[in-house]
Amino acid sequence: MSEQYACVGCGVNIQTENADEIGYAPQSALNKETIICQRCFRLKHYNEVQDVSLTDDDFLKILNELGKKDALIVKIVDIFDFNGSWLPGLHRFVGNNKILLVGNKVDLLPHSVKPNKLINWMKHEAKELGLKPEDVYLVSASRGQFIEEVISAIEEHRNGKDVYVVGCTNVGKSTFINRILKQITGEGDIITTSHFPGTTLDMIEIPLDDGKVLVDTPGIINHHQMAHYVDKKDLKVITPKKEIKPKVFQLNEGQTLFFGGLARFDYISGGRRSFVCHFSNEINIHRTKLEKATELYENHVGELLSPPRPDQLDTFPELVKHEFTVKEGKIDIVFSGLGWVTINDPGAKVAAYVPKGVHAMKRKSLI
Ligand code: GDP
Repeated sequence: MSEQYACVGCGVNIQTENADEIGYAPQSALNKETIICQRCFRLKHYNEVQDVSLTDDDFLKILNELGKKDALIVKIVDIFDFNGSWLPGLHRFVGNNKILLVGNKVDLLPHSVKPNKLINWMKHEAKELGLKPEDVYLVSASRGQFIEEVISAIEEHRNGKDVYVVGCTNVGKSTFINRILKQITGEGDIITTSHFPGTTLDMIEIPLDDGKVLVDTPGIINHHQMAHYVDKKDLKVITPKKEIKPKVFQLNEGQTLFFGGLARFDYISGGRRSFVCHFSNEINIHRTKLEKATELYENHVGELLSPPRPDQLDTFPELVKHEFTVKEGKIDIVFSGLGWVTINDPGAKVAAYVPKGVHAMKRKSLI
């Protein structure tokens, strides 16, 4: 593009190359009299916010700005990928502002799990991670479950202040905001955008009834999420769309489970016991002997053990081993963004393998 255009809606520089990046407009939009970016276009015509993602640097600037505001911060995490979607360090930036923590996608967890138990678990984890939220909520933005409760909580805690919604990409922030939009806006062009100081980013502002606004901040890319290592088609396989059905495996020492070809779980020692696997129902779990596992992977990744796909193997990162000894009862071994294995009793030694760059960790059991 030789000439530089600015969006008449939000002022961002227009680019036509990358539909996922800020300022995107299709080439055809450049022929119009007024040029508007896709994000503003959707907002204007469909009252719908769209994902935009940003660099770490821009995100830090946004966090810094949040610290200067007198506002309520609503932090959204994906309950299925709690640790992977956590925004580390948020508490250091927000100053004295209150934070509401919202766990989205509750519809994915087994219905038998009590919401209060999950909320207590989130409170515990938040504390461990250094965040002291004012309150914690669960929601399903796509199904609308508990959305009224969250809206009331926002209303109660904001105390006449602006509200900033933050979260990393894919937590369902746009879906959440669109839900709220549906609930609180009527017809017409009531949504505005404004500029985030020090960044090229623009925020979407939804007016609240007292002249204050609810602000959608762009989502940060969390590089440790599995989502960045799989093909778009496979992302559909690894991302659960409905309630996950836990799968129980009785394993002897020296047995291995493969989750597609994306992750591996070795049971090293601790006597025969059961392991409860919480993954997308579409992920194929393959059991084998530990001693043969490495060879099986080398020979069958991309076929028997897929995703990844055969044409991705050149670029797919090697699996890296993380060992865990389970001393405490009921813990999860988490494969960030992919799922987790619950171990009910102490005394097991296990190893989790994840693509280099993806996190594996041990945590207090979620379910
Ligand atoms: P954003 O990047 O945080 O703005 O996330 P999006 O709103 O674009 O959502 C990311 C993905 O999560 C999409 O595939 C949504 O359909 C899905 N999603 C959003 N909310 C929910 C939810 O409550 N439950 C489930 N199961 N999926 C959701």
